[in-house]
Amino acid sequence: MSERLSPDPEQAPAQPIAVLDLAKHRLVELGIYTSETFPEALNGADFEKVGLPIFGGCEVCMASVAAYNAYPTQTGYLRCEDCTDDLGYATAEEANAAIFGGGDVA
Ligand SMILES: [Zn+2]
Repeated sequence: MSERLSPDPEQAPAQPIAVLDLAKHRLVELGIYTSETFPEALNGADFEKVGLPIFGGCEVCMASVAAYNAYPTQTGYLRCEDCTDDLGYATAEEANAAIFGGGDVA
């Protein structure tokens, strides 16, 4: 939850989903975890299973990013929050379909 107040919420771009959000979505979609078995924290192996990086670099400014602050974008590369612009994905479903074809293939 952001503390920032937006003067016009309708105009504010939606917060894009991070790699972490996409990983959580795919771990459930691929049947690796259920809501009952989902761990409190994900590890590197979890990210590997769903084909996502846990660390990376921003495409634009080269900042180091990790799953929680790396945003998949429509360029096909990760970006940091400052550089995402409008190229991020609004939902994990949308990102999953765009990046992985929406398939259930691990
Ligand atoms: Zn950046």
